[in-house]
Amino acid sequence: MSQEKHKIQFSFLGRIYLFEIFRGLTITLRHLLRNLTHRKQMPTIEYPDERREFSPRFRGRHRLKKRDDGTVKCVACHLCATVCPAQCITIEATEHPDPEIEKMPERYEIDILRCIFCGLCVEACPVEALEMTGEYELSDFTRQSLIYDKKYLLDPPSNLPEKKES
Ligand code: SF4
Ligand code: SF4
Repeated sequence: MSQEKHKIQFSFLGRIYLFEIFRGLTITLRHLLRNLTHRKQMPTIEYPDERREFSPRFRGRHRLKKRDDGTVKCVACHLCATVCPAQCITIEATEHPDPEIEKMPERYEIDILRCIFCGLCVEACPVEALEMTGEYELSDFTRQSLIYDKKYLLDPPSNLPEKKES
């Protein structure tokens, strides 16, 4: 049998196809080499050792603010719960010990599994008692632990530097 019979024959279209594959591989190789030699310019980061700095406008986990005496600033007006499109805020009001302040929340809960991080609750608050922090590590093991209560919202754990004021 002659050697001519074992030769692989490519049609014109087949030859173009192979050419495109090699062209694609060349581009991939070029990017690989460039990334290896310019590691600092690579868009990926070594999370969680490295963390991105987010915009001051980033809307992460909520926090209830405190007064100077350490008590909750919220006056339980229910505006945040009313405006919330996801209906994930639950408030039960009680009388404030200070007669100058009408009410305070006995119970204040945000179901973060339902929250869409729109920030409307923060905008609606007339006393700026609620804010959204830069915290985005919100995973947990149970559904119940993702319903943040008043105690948690007043002193949430933080893995990030404080959000800068804009
Ligand atoms: S950020 Fe939006 S969805 Fe989440 S609690 Fe506030 S108003 Fe509701
Ligand atoms: S709008 Fe502000 S003051 Fe009113 S219940 Fe919500 S957090 Fe409290």
